[in-house]
Amino acid sequence: MLNLYADRGNVQTLLRRCEWRGLHAHVTPVRRHDEVRLRDYHLVLIGGGSDREQALVAEALRRRRREWKAAVEDGLPVLAVCGGYQLLGEYYQLPDGTKVPGLELLDLVTTAGRPRLIGNIAIESPEVGTVVGFENHGGRTVHRHAPLGTVLRGHGNNGRDGYEGVRYRNVVGTYIHGPLLPKNPRLADFLLSLAAAYAGVAVDFPPLDDELEWAAHRAFLTRHAGVRGPR
Ligand code: GLN
Repeated sequence: MLNLYADRGNVQTLLRRCEWRGLHAHVTPVRRHDEVRLRDYHLVLIGGGSDREQALVAEALRRRRREWKAAVEDGLPVLAVCGGYQLLGEYYQLPDGTKVPGLELLDLVTTAGRPRLIGNIAIESPEVGTVVGFENHGGRTVHRHAPLGTVLRGHGNNGRDGYEGVRYRNVVGTYIHGPLLPKNPRLADFLLSLAAAYAGVAVDFPPLDDELEWAAHRAFLTRHAGVRGPR
């Protein structure tokens, strides 16, 4: 239900980057009413969705809120995009004022506003350098954690404070779709290394031939985001 603007590509990217290095990864697609035992997993991906889908998923996920909270505090790596990112917080307030309660994993709230914040986005992250992609959200998010990065071009969390996304323990939340990971190989490998560390396995992540990935990344930076940078 949460797979907007090709968020599924993030899963494919992670799988391929494992495969190219001879590492085995197993993916379990999760449906709304599936019982998920978080301790069986080393990385969780949540994509974006419409307000309606988001509210339905929120209701289902909240039943296991305590387990989520414990897992995140324990260091479970999570990548949450847009609607999924909003779900990590206390609530998402719909345009009519109704609050859709979130998982309350982060000190974060989102309020729908106008206009929608749409377009190409580029940010600078202290951990993984530039990150590029596409955003389309009505929600304005504010939180008390570190951001994923600062906005070079685009809107980010709320179009006001210049921050984009969130970093908390091993959680990465962001508004960036596109999908996010194919054009941002450093972020993809960052997530894989978090997952390996969380799984307790010593894995080497030798560099891959990312010429095409970086060409896409650089083209995006210069052509769409109007930003010139090393990467
Ligand atoms: N429904 C949310 C919003 O508009 C999330 C949208 C999305 O996931 N792209 O803010």
